[in-house]
Amino acid sequence: MHRIYLDHNATTPLESAVVDRITAVLRDEFGNASSVHHFGQRAKATMDEARSAVAELVGADPGEIVFTSGGTESDNIAIRGVAEATEASGRRQVIATSIEHEAVLNTFKALARRGWRTTLLPVDQSGVASPDALREAITDATALVSVMHANNEVGTIQRIAEFAAIAHERGALMHTDAVQSAGKIPINVKTLGVDLLSASAHKINGPKGVGALWIRRGVRLVPLLTGGRQERSRRAGTENVAGIAGYGAAAARAVAKMAAEAPRLSALRDRLEQGVLATVPGTAVNGSGAPRVPNTTNISFERVEAESLLIALDLEGIAVSTGSACSSGTLEPSHVLKAMGFPAHRTQNSIRFSLGLGNTEAEIDRVLAVLPAIVEKLRSLTRTPVRA
Ligand code: PLP
Repeated sequence: MHRIYLDHNATTPLESAVVDRITAVLRDEFGNASSVHHFGQRAKATMDEARSAVAELVGADPGEIVFTSGGTESDNIAIRGVAEATEASGRRQVIATSIEHEAVLNTFKALARRGWRTTLLPVDQSGVASPDALREAITDATALVSVMHANNEVGTIQRIAEFAAIAHERGALMHTDAVQSAGKIPINVKTLGVDLLSASAHKINGPKGVGALWIRRGVRLVPLLTGGRQERSRRAGTENVAGIAGYGAAAARAVAKMAAEAPRLSALRDRLEQGVLATVPGTAVNGSGAPRVPNTTNISFERVEAESLLIALDLEGIAVSTGSACSSGTLEPSHVLKAMGFPAHRTQNSIRFSLGLGNTEAEIDRVLAVLPAIVEKLRSLTRTPVRA
């Protein structure tokens, strides 16, 4: 069976050029990048090349890129690191939106347990937070504002530059989690006006377990890991040179392909979206009223349990996601859709389709060919009528 992968916001397949680069580094570049001798210098040169490629991905100076173990660690260093550095100054409030990834939300919870005031800004029905809400929430005690650039479940893009300007007016730092946007749409840290930006390799056809945190020169933060002086003393530990090289290769390819790939994916996404809305009654797009990354759509299917639809599609060889966490067999409603104001049933009947590099028009048409019958069958198993 030809399997169709439409879950690129969860993770992506590695490009073969990336695999080749990782393999070559694993085999030939075993040196420790901190060593002074030839082997160490080769490993360092490999990392420098990757650092430049990742810097270019976000319009940054390579010297300000810190490699991490992924988006989660980048978010943690940004939030915890700034919090710890500013704690003594009396600033003890952090602000984010209610639709952030768990890497941010649970880090906020950890700070709250340590006595920090944490504020989550609401979003509208398109999944967009308003700068006015930040203006109301921010105080002179705010240390950091953290707003994700693109949402992982619905793909909506936030007005980061406006949030950054407000944060800076009040002397707070601005972080953005750009894990779902870096490599998909053009990004420039200067245009965004942020102080810290998180990114991750495995969302852009790179390896898992590698990410980056861009830290504007001059930003004070306390590192999470204590140890050696790697990554300009921001992140201790012998570097994952092969993974970093893979990230560099993936970043370079994402930059080179973006101008062609973004419109291609948005055309495929629109084809899927319009096809579903036209052929399956009782469907609606979640978050369609706002700018979105080109590869993502989140669609609600009335009177269908998202998990059942996911499994039925998987049996047809089509991989999608509910975009919400399934813990111990009970489907937890998506916190993102809930924050967007959707009623409980809609937070549990929505499916995320996230497209990527290998997807073709034929694959989208295959999804459109099988979906109406699957949905009809699932609905025939439940009794309540389809809501208009
Ligand atoms: N932030 C967002 C918006 C994400 O989508 C993800 C991944 O799902 C992360 C952070 C975490 O990144 P990583 O998987 O590299 O730890």
